[in-house]
Amino acid sequence: MNRRQFSKTAGLGTLGAAVGAAAFQARTARSEPGEEIIDIHQHVNFHARSNEEFIEHQKKMGVTTTVLLPSGSALSRVSTDRGKSNGLAARVFGTFAAARLAKAHPESFAFFCNEIPDVDGADRELEKWLENGAVGIGEQKFNLECDSGPMIRLYEVASAYEVPFLLHFQHEAYNKGFDRFHKILERFPKVNFIGHAQTWWGNIDAKHVQKDMYPKTKVTPGGITDRYLADYPNMFGDLSAGSGKNALDRDEEHAVAFLERHQDKLMLGTDCADTVGEGGKCSGSGQIANVMQFVSDPEIRTKILSGNAKRIIKLG
Ligand SMILES: [Zn+2]
Ligand SMILES: [Zn+2]
Repeated sequence: MNRRQFSKTAGLGTLGAAVGAAAFQARTARSEPGEEIIDIHQHVNFHARSNEEFIEHQKKMGVTTTVLLPSGSALSRVSTDRGKSNGLAARVFGTFAAARLAKAHPESFAFFCNEIPDVDGADRELEKWLENGAVGIGEQKFNLECDSGPMIRLYEVASAYEVPFLLHFQHEAYNKGFDRFHKILERFPKVNFIGHAQTWWGNIDAKHVQKDMYPKTKVTPGGITDRYLADYPNMFGDLSAGSGKNALDRDEEHAVAFLERHQDKLMLGTDCADTVGEGGKCSGSGQIANVMQFVSDPEIRTKILSGNAKRIIKLG
């Protein structure tokens, strides 16, 4: 599908009429050749996917640069749910493996660093990696309050190094206390925070029920996430995972307006563990197709697919 056809179907989407065959066509469409796509949310050894399969998956999706988000150390403590949340609960490898892959393919990968916040020396561990090529901190996915002492210590590292900080918000599971996160946004104005996961996306809706992980109802604008994005210059969102895709799929008319409203704050991420890189099993390629479908203005599309990521992540 060429750009003109794209604009046509996406334009229908703007009117809330992108249903039926045209919408299906746009949904299955790929990005145009040569279009830059930065995927800010992927993992090494994601559910034991090999690096060869992973590299092929990213190519298949049309991704040009991928940001690798490692896990922390594998330890049994309350913050790791006694080890169940080790490897980001998805067998993901740590910073060393991410750094190794990124350094072997510097043209297509960059890496963040990570550690369990309440482990002794977590701050020094992150500092070591930030001095050795890491360009951010995360994905932070530990059983802690988002404004607890150990988290604040890591936000201080991000602030000192002026790197972004990516969090998995999940009600009663990870980075708890999402409704208080505005205090962190106010306290650390130099840190660009990136929100992700079920509780981040559920709260685009002012009527969100906190225990619902993948709500299917129409969205009422003005939820906590919508307000954080609108009110805080240092709050960003990545579109990754089933939760990010669901947030757009559940209400297409809302999706069009939301992507436009937060065009300077949203970044493409995929976070899918499949080996296919296309079709129904690959939420990442589905979300890329969503951006193509719901964003008709090519300039806004470029911001979401690559421009915003380049602005806040030092991709070298
Ligand atoms: Zn996550
Ligand atoms: Zn995929």
